[in-house]
Amino acid sequence: MTDQFTPMPTDWERALAIVAHPDDLEYGAAAAVAEWTDAGRDVAYLLVTRGEAGIDTLEPEESARVREGEQIASAAVVGVDSVTFLGHRDGVIEEGTALRRDLAAVIRSHRPELLITLNHRETWDWGTRAWNTPDHRVVGRAVLDAAGDAGNRWIFPEQLAAGGARPWDGVRWVAVAGSPEATHAQGVSERSVERAVASLAEHRAYIAALSDLEPVAYARELHASMAEMTAPRFGGAPCVPFELFTR
Ligand SMILES: [Zn+2]
Repeated sequence: MTDQFTPMPTDWERALAIVAHPDDLEYGAAAAVAEWTDAGRDVAYLLVTRGEAGIDTLEPEESARVREGEQIASAAVVGVDSVTFLGHRDGVIEEGTALRRDLAAVIRSHRPELLITLNHRETWDWGTRAWNTPDHRVVGRAVLDAAGDAGNRWIFPEQLAAGGARPWDGVRWVAVAGSPEATHAQGVSERSVERAVASLAEHRAYIAALSDLEPVAYARELHASMAEMTAPRFGGAPCVPFELFTR
């Protein structure tokens, strides 16, 4: 018997999902997003890069243009109409105060209770110890840090002096998707899984570059294999696991 996941908290209204690349949220987390937006919660996406280094056969500027469009379409499928791109350089995102400053500004503006990000740990848990990429590690850690930065009026005070922005100390949780140390899970309906499949399938150019399957078949197969791995730890029910940090 493996450890069971604890259900995700439900007493919140606004979430902000911050990840490195177009497609990061569609490899799992989007089913939870569909579940939340269906329940009337507000979810926005913040992409740190435009994904310009993600497709070997496309020149970076063309790749960025295509992948921005795919990300906006895939967000719409799961009820997210706010998608922002920060434009940091794909593959070489720099950890440090410049990134934390950009994240704090958006957190202060959106004022979420829940932040979502992707695995910040060194490895993935795919049955083997697969090494995680630097962008995911850097962005995940910066999100965990920026949750605190946003609430402190003496950190990045120029954002507040400029007028408009106010400190936001209301982030109560940071939920990390894809973590090998998942603790919690969001149960998802069949409808949410179908929307997540359609959401991933919107990344047509990206999927075409890495699979011979057509996008919906690729996305369906991927979600089926994830469900096989995760449901046993949630009473056999379909779910999206997260490592949940509280503040
Ligand atoms: Zn990624």
